[in-house]
Amino acid sequence: MLRALKSKLKKGDKELVRVAFEMAAEAHKSMRRKSGEPYILHPLAVAQICVEEIGLGVRSTICALLHDTVEDTDITLEDVEREFGSEIARIIDGLTKIANVVDTNTSQQAENFKKILLTLTDDPRVILIKLADRLHNMRTLDSMKQEKQLKIASETIYVYAPLAHRLGLYNIKTEMEDLSMKYLESDTYREIARKLAETKRERSRYINEFIKPLKERLDKAGFANYEVYGRPKSIHSISNKIKKKGVTFEEVYDLFAIRIIIDAPHEREKEDCWKAYSIIADMYTPSPERLRDWLSNPKSNGYEALHTTVMGPQGKWVEIQIRTKRMNEIAEKGLAAHWKYKEGSEEDRFDKWFHNIREVLNNQESSSLDFLHDFKTSFLAEEIYVYTPKGDVKMLPVSATALDFAFSVHSDIGTRCIGAKVNHKLVPISHKLRSGDQLEIITSNKQKPSEDWLNFVVTAKAKSRIKDALKEEKRKVADDGKYVLQRKLEQLGAAFDVHNVEVLAQFYKLPSHLDLFFKVATKTIELKEIKELTLTGDRLELPKPVKPVAEPKHDPEHHKHQTPSKDSELIIFGESSDKIVYALANCCKPIPGDDVFGFVSTGKGLIIHRNTCPNAARLLANFGHRIVKTKWAKNKEIAFLTGIEIVGVDDVGIVSKITNLISAEMKLNISAITIEAKEGLFHGNIRLFVYDKEELNELVSRLMKLPGIHKVDRYDTEH
Ligand code: MN
Repeated sequence: MLRALKSKLKKGDKELVRVAFEMAAEAHKSMRRKSGEPYILHPLAVAQICVEEIGLGVRSTICALLHDTVEDTDITLEDVEREFGSEIARIIDGLTKIANVVDTNTSQQAENFKKILLTLTDDPRVILIKLADRLHNMRTLDSMKQEKQLKIASETIYVYAPLAHRLGLYNIKTEMEDLSMKYLESDTYREIARKLAETKRERSRYINEFIKPLKERLDKAGFANYEVYGRPKSIHSISNKIKKKGVTFEEVYDLFAIRIIIDAPHEREKEDCWKAYSIIADMYTPSPERLRDWLSNPKSNGYEALHTTVMGPQGKWVEIQIRTKRMNEIAEKGLAAHWKYKEGSEEDRFDKWFHNIREVLNNQESSSLDFLHDFKTSFLAEEIYVYTPKGDVKMLPVSATALDFAFSVHSDIGTRCIGAKVNHKLVPISHKLRSGDQLEIITSNKQKPSEDWLNFVVTAKAKSRIKDALKEEKRKVADDGKYVLQRKLEQLGAAFDVHNVEVLAQFYKLPSHLDLFFKVATKTIELKEIKELTLTGDRLELPKPVKPVAEPKHDPEHHKHQTPSKDSELIIFGESSDKIVYALANCCKPIPGDDVFGFVSTGKGLIIHRNTCPNAARLLANFGHRIVKTKWAKNKEIAFLTGIEIVGVDDVGIVSKITNLISAEMKLNISAITIEAKEGLFHGNIRLFVYDKEELNELVSRLMKLPGIHKVDRYDTEH
């Protein structure tokens, strides 16, 4: 580690690093990691990642070595401050988790994220070290218990990988995604890894043949000291393409990717990148809609490059990234490298980003869960850039609307926005923006924010400003309701006091007095019903419940389909095989054989989700404490509803062949079937009952063997 730090060591630094190492080693000396290794190997590895993979310096190394001491050992923050000063102590404090958050209604993880994210604006080194910490934990996740693996992997894919991306740490982001997938979707992960290994030889031969003539042309054009190499696509990104585009591994069009890194003096960087581009475009036909120019408009994480996809030999698409050495270092080391190259005159996108975050945080009363969600959608999403009428660029998260833009200009413009002109065409405020749009906002003094605005804004700033405005509005309306209620109570001979208002709020099942007054004012509750309450003196009391114990309630959402009876032994929890009431999540419809986890929902009991459920990462990341390890018991008595989608060539009798296979041959019950034929293709959706995943897999493979069938997919969600 000292060797890697060498160029950054000033006088006395080496000694400081040693002191930090020895302090950490001593403090952790009786601790072991889950794998059995001495604990100190972890902070040491984290420090090494900071130095070698993120490019951080001496101060960060010391913090990385000590990052777990204050939380887990006898060392206090004061000890650290005494030894290393206040700057380092502050960073260590940021790295120390919030202890003793026991309220199970809020999410402890969300609280922790909030704390970490808030430190972002003080000192970005906290988050960089946190990312190194998380990366090492992911690399060594094998020795953890399965439910821990799920929780940690989910948090990583939900927050840490997007954060690494946002900070420009592409390698770390990619590794985090792949490692998360290894635990969350292990089957798919292994399958793609196997196919990649099988085709490796063939792919590198192709890449070499592609590169050879290209190099000759680059040499001839006078390029020197450049590098061209094949770039492996990550398993996670391939899997995403397969899912999004609904194609097979073999059909993923840009499995081939190369990177060209050129050596160019600062003033000629862009020019030389375009020159390299034109040489390539001359040799191979580029796909016009797949040119990405991050040279003219760098991403706000500092990323600069030119991306294109060209048609290579044998009709194969090849993705090409062109960048200079400087751009490459920024792409790999993100924030840290960005600082190294930062120039006084250049507008600093990071500073702007931090400024935006700070602005929203200062105005934030929302719960930690809302906070995390807002943070994710407004700061971690991919970005688009749009122009103001004067031609200034504004970066917004993907799926931002005209209203988001209005709020990003000014809160006043947002609250009064009635529409916009996008590229001179009139659009509604909910219009989704695309990169390159030029916007002009139209306002009116009569406009007022409304509740439904929250459904289409994505930026945290717009959300919090709309909520503020709505609350203000609600308060005004509620004042009228308060007056109405007061008169009503006086009429009945009941006092208008805190006790009675509280009883009424409970009676109408409303969360607050404000809500009660508001609903009275808007006449959404019936004041006549107050007669059901008993009046003793001037005090109101809730009516006695008719039935002493309410029936256990289940959300009908989760019970629409055939639900296994309570006494089945379908699921085993932990070590015991208790019979527990549960429901299958409607969002992913698990069947036996799927990898699943149980989620203790408030009031709805245990809900079983698939590990690959679209909601899984969010649930696991936010509510780790409510996750119950769940697996299927062997049972062939209950059939589960699932759905498959079939695509094929329309042919006489195809429907009867399919239904015959399902009902007559495999003896499965069909619950619903829709078939649409269009221009010679047919598209079928079949919902049917199966006993487990094995049976479903058998059905899929037998359907695939029918002539004319192209694709059979299980559907993941309720679409
Ligand atoms: Mn750690």
